[in-house]
Amino acid sequence: MSKRKVAYFYDNDVGAYSYGLGHPMKPLRMRVTHELVMAYGMLDKMHVIRPKRCSPEAMARFHTDEYVQFLQTVTPETVDKLTHHGTRFLVGEDNPAFDSVFEFCSISAGGSIAAAERIASSSVDISINWAGGLHHAKKREASGFCYINDINLGILELLRTYPRVLYIDIDCHHGDGVEEAFYTTDRVMTASFHKFGEYFPGTGTQEDRGRGKGKGYSLNVPLKDGITDEAFQSIFEPVISKIMDVFQPSAVVLQCGADSLAGDKLGCFNLTMHGHAKCVQFIRQQNVPCILLGGGGYTVKNVARTWAYETACALGIEKDIDPNLPWMDYFEWFGPRYRLEVPENNMEDMNVKDGSLDRIRSTALQQLQELATGCAPSIQLQDVPRETLSKHLGFENQQSKDDLDRTLAQHSRYVYNLQDSDTTTDESDNESWDSDESTSSNHWRRGPYRSSSIPDSSITRKPFELRATQIAKKRMSLLTGQYFDILSNEGGFALLSGASFCIPSRRRFFRSGEEGWDDEFNIVDEAVERVRDAFRHQPGPEEIARLLDETRRIGLDADYGDDDDEVMSVEL
Ligand SMILES: [Zn+2]
Repeated sequence: MSKRKVAYFYDNDVGAYSYGLGHPMKPLRMRVTHELVMAYGMLDKMHVIRPKRCSPEAMARFHTDEYVQFLQTVTPETVDKLTHHGTRFLVGEDNPAFDSVFEFCSISAGGSIAAAERIASSSVDISINWAGGLHHAKKREASGFCYINDINLGILELLRTYPRVLYIDIDCHHGDGVEEAFYTTDRVMTASFHKFGEYFPGTGTQEDRGRGKGKGYSLNVPLKDGITDEAFQSIFEPVISKIMDVFQPSAVVLQCGADSLAGDKLGCFNLTMHGHAKCVQFIRQQNVPCILLGGGGYTVKNVARTWAYETACALGIEKDIDPNLPWMDYFEWFGPRYRLEVPENNMEDMNVKDGSLDRIRSTALQQLQELATGCAPSIQLQDVPRETLSKHLGFENQQSKDDLDRTLAQHSRYVYNLQDSDTTTDESDNESWDSDESTSSNHWRRGPYRSSSIPDSSITRKPFELRATQIAKKRMSLLTGQYFDILSNEGGFALLSGASFCIPSRRRFFRSGEEGWDDEFNIVDEAVERVRDAFRHQPGPEEIARLLDETRRIGLDADYGDDDDEVMSVEL
């Protein structure tokens, strides 16, 4: 196998952070992985780099300033006050405000950004950051043990240089935070292979395919318990081959979540270390610049075994790796066999048992075929300009990188404020609104939230009653798999009229094109104010119809059966 230049990003401090006693996410697994990589003598075969820690400004390229500032200041002591008693940012037990959580995030995110920079500068072929891969983090919210979405930051960095980036996710859980961020763009294709069905985060069906320009560029492969190496490869390889064909990515980001391994504490697949690593080998063979990231993985010694072995795969030296473990710190953890392997167990493969795997595979391939033949909007493969992100976003003159960052940050802030002041009721009610799209799949499309039904008391409403609302959402916990309610009183207004209605707010991120940022936003801003004012005065049915028209005209309307309020995409 031909040689590849590999950069390996590691900060020795990362293993020292703790989510708290009894929490299944153990940052120590990165240190154990590193010890194994070192003991196998791999460090002198690659560039080993301690990455610069990610600054708050760099985090704000994807996250809101407010959320980043919150993470900088939160401590176990202040968490209650800063989260408004658990209603914002950190909710439930999945994401505790542990000591130095911000520093931990800055190491993880700093690694993925640096990994992307190395790839983009063509100085290496493969970058590795096992501290990254935290795919559940949202624009302004922690989720599923993830606080800062290092993957999105890394992909944004790649998009400064590359026209198309493919993101692949083999974690047992759906890669929802990455899919959501790039749901409306055709410059990033996301492909997630995950357990689906009463399992965190509850999203990722085959009907979830992206929206607008991004339609067809989100691919989901929902799987059942117990999938084995053979079954997994029988779907992974043809699907990825087809994507490589159709999408022709200029770079690949592979999230190697290790909770898809057999015997994981929270996962339910049956992959061996070799089966998991086959995905890395397969991607390496594609000869496209690639970033390998970590992710989930809760049986620490198996995570360490697999990521160490996958480091060897990146280097192309896996054949020379002794299956008997070398001496190292933590050696005693690996008894009684002290071997580098994760064997399968005897669980039944539910994917093969009922033939669902074949159905899922043929649907996925058919969806990709549709993308290839232009049923879905297609990118012009021959004609994609190799432009920088700034150029793509319409900043024609040679702004410095700093200027661009500043402009993007200002823009994010603007959009965030717009949405916050305009926050309306949640999506909850709109299942019953007119919606031709209000199908059960919509229910899942919008992220980990499922709308809770409105309390019965509020349904005895007068027609067109206006009231301030307290938002009720349901969210799943990765720890327990249970849904729980979150309430957040964001001061919005709901108009209740048999079916409830909210003034929709549309997220507009990083919009490309020639139209001036400011002009467009002023127009939108004024229109939002006008509509909100009118609703405050309890309009009659005709007035409502007119206002709905207006919201549609200014592009603020979502289809009401869908939920733009939760789709926090980066529009590229
Ligand atoms: Zn996971």
